[in-house]
Amino acid sequence: MRILVTGGAGFLGSHLCDRLIADGHDVTVIDNLFTGRKQNIAHLLQHPRFEFVRHDVIDPFKFEVDQIYNLACPASPPHYQFNPIKTTKTSVMGAINCLGLAKRVKARVFQASTSEVYGDPAVHPQPESYWGNVNPIGKRSCYDEGKRCAETLFFDYHRENGVDIRVVRIFNTYGPRMHEADGRVVSNFIVQALRGQDITIYGDGSQTRSFCYVDDLIEGWLRLMAQTETVGPVNLGNPGEFTMLQLAELTLKLVGGTSKIVHRPLPADDPKQRRPDITLAQKVLGGWTPKVPLEEGLARTIAYFKPRV
Ligand code: NAD
Ligand code: UDP
Repeated sequence: MRILVTGGAGFLGSHLCDRLIADGHDVTVIDNLFTGRKQNIAHLLQHPRFEFVRHDVIDPFKFEVDQIYNLACPASPPHYQFNPIKTTKTSVMGAINCLGLAKRVKARVFQASTSEVYGDPAVHPQPESYWGNVNPIGKRSCYDEGKRCAETLFFDYHRENGVDIRVVRIFNTYGPRMHEADGRVVSNFIVQALRGQDITIYGDGSQTRSFCYVDDLIEGWLRLMAQTETVGPVNLGNPGEFTMLQLAELTLKLVGGTSKIVHRPLPADDPKQRRPDITLAQKVLGGWTPKVPLEEGLARTIAYFKPRV
């Protein structure tokens, strides 16, 4: 197939491209390189079935393709809050441009949505049927509401125009090729531990997250795109739930070194708990289940960062 990946030079996008090329597809990436890097896809640039186009998804684009993966959007809180208006435009106009293209060329189109649509969840763990608890005017709203609006657009194009959509709600995913200055917790803790710097826990460290290793996530994406029973939204993530204090301690154990844990103020609207209910994914994605435990995934991610920091 001919497949377009928006945001394909980012962390998740570059892993997706690896899988798509290995599976024999023609892949075109469009990315404005805001948080992505050419070095993430450097090994693909000379491949005859791979093409990179520097382009911003808020401006329209045309490609003759069979499938579209829409990943373009900064994902880490410091990056998406850097220019919040741009973040909302990226989610909303990027979705409109992908959906308009999908409608014209009759492509199947995938949206990388997020557990942030559940906000600071009052229901735990979070099933797809939960409508969420999102502050519409806070610091995280540009991302959360932008992604919620993108989901709305996907489902309206599906209902009104018969566009063939797939929507996943991704829970915190980590692995090699995260940016070392990305600001997300896994990369922050690993880089801090490797550099012998203090490990910065925001708040008291009792807030929880569930961490999925990148390979498990990408496998789920491909299975969702390959089947025709379910358009989503489908939660994808690893239901293992850890406090940030536990994550800091595990990272320190694996890296070794002399870093000590320090506490910093908790950012506004930081969700207190998060764990995916993955019952639906396990049912509809041919036995998909996350395979890589946190300790093993962290060890692989540490091995990636070690020579780079
Ligand atoms: P990332 O920041 O590494 O990748 C995002 C990519 O989008 C980057 O390459 C960036 O340059 C590109 N981009 C941003 N704005 C753009 C624009 N206007 N036009 C073109 N390209 C643009 O983040 P990631 O972790 O790889 O996330 C990929 C997608 O998955 C994002 O949509 C994100 O919201 C979603 N997601 C990720 C996670 C996670 O834990 N990693 C969780 C939930 C959702
Ligand atoms: N966090 C932390 N120290 C850091 C970076 C993040 O304690 O150096 C916390 C953050 O406050 C949040 C959790 O780790 O409670 C996950 O943060 P991240 O930015 O990775 O993702 P998100 O909040 O979007 O789930």
